[in-house]
Amino acid sequence: RNYNAYLCREINKKSTDMLANCPSVLLIYTGGTIGMIENPETGALENFDFDHLLKHVPELKRFNYRISSYQFAPPLDSSDMEPLYWAKLVEIIYHNYDNFDGFVILHGTDTMAYTASALSFMLENLSKPVILTGSQLPIGTLRTDGKENLITAIEIAAAKNPDGTPIVPEVCIFFENHLMRGNRTTKINAENFNAFRSFNYPPLASVGIHIKYELNLIHKPDPAKALKPHYLFDTNVVILTLFPGIQESIVNSLLHVEGLKAVVLKTFGSGNAPQKPWFIRQLKEATERGIIIVNITQCSSGAVEMERYETGIHLLEAGVISGYDSTPECALTKLMFLLGHGLSNEEIRRKMNSCLVGEITKSVD
Ligand code: ASP
Repeated sequence: RNYNAYLCREINKKSTDMLANCPSVLLIYTGGTIGMIENPETGALENFDFDHLLKHVPELKRFNYRISSYQFAPPLDSSDMEPLYWAKLVEIIYHNYDNFDGFVILHGTDTMAYTASALSFMLENLSKPVILTGSQLPIGTLRTDGKENLITAIEIAAAKNPDGTPIVPEVCIFFENHLMRGNRTTKINAENFNAFRSFNYPPLASVGIHIKYELNLIHKPDPAKALKPHYLFDTNVVILTLFPGIQESIVNSLLHVEGLKAVVLKTFGSGNAPQKPWFIRQLKEATERGIIIVNITQCSSGAVEMERYETGIHLLEAGVISGYDSTPECALTKLMFLLGHGLSNEEIRRKMNSCLVGEITKSVD
């Protein structure tokens, strides 16, 4: 599949002089519902060319910003997103970093939280806004949520503090009036416009008549550190969700898959799992073989505390590490990222237990 993005054009065609000192935003269109149209014969939603997006949002031309765009060719339904495309996004941002104040990524909602989490690790020392958004209804439809999401995301990507520094120098998801830290976000609704939540970290901004930024919650970058792009991932990982009645043969087969390097274990409540001896033995043998097992909760909200109940303590003794209050999307992409960088098992375990880019809540790090 050709994933080459190409630079389309300057969107708001005003003279370069007029826009010389204006905020500048690079809009990267990867695909997703926001840029889809209904096939008149089948009724199915299909991707269309980015030019149509401009046709449907003529408001973009009214921004007094310099807006340029990249388009993935062909646009991707986000179910087809892969680490390869995350790397492409990082490459585009890195190569255009000095030319723009901020970046907006239009992305399908289905895997947006994975992409946002991955980018937060890949763009080390990020000091400019990277705002992902999309929509539940295609932008060409009357009741679309896409216009509002897109326009506000652009405004946030260009927003500056009085001293000229960006207000939100982070990878975020903006959706339906809320700006959320990307690696804290999960898609929670396949129907409503209010499709994303950040259960374990408050929104970075709320949007009504005004955009109200929560400045004390927003990451402060170190201006002395240059952006360091990362491109490598190792996808030998799996998510294992526990359920009452889970079978030994299945757990055994999964943990013996050739090449498996890490497991995100979705446990019950505050990090609890069955106490059956076979289960603990399977996990212990796996960690002894070098497989990293990270414990996160199946609950949407809250954190794992393995020392709290006896069942959790057995997991600790089996070598399972805590994922704290990580989302599944974040735990998985963080593991893929760390494994991809060829770090030692010990180093990966240490970094999984550290907050690298605001992805987990730890009182002492
Ligand atoms: N299937 C679409 C996607 O994730 C859904 C959306 O954009 O909301 O690409």
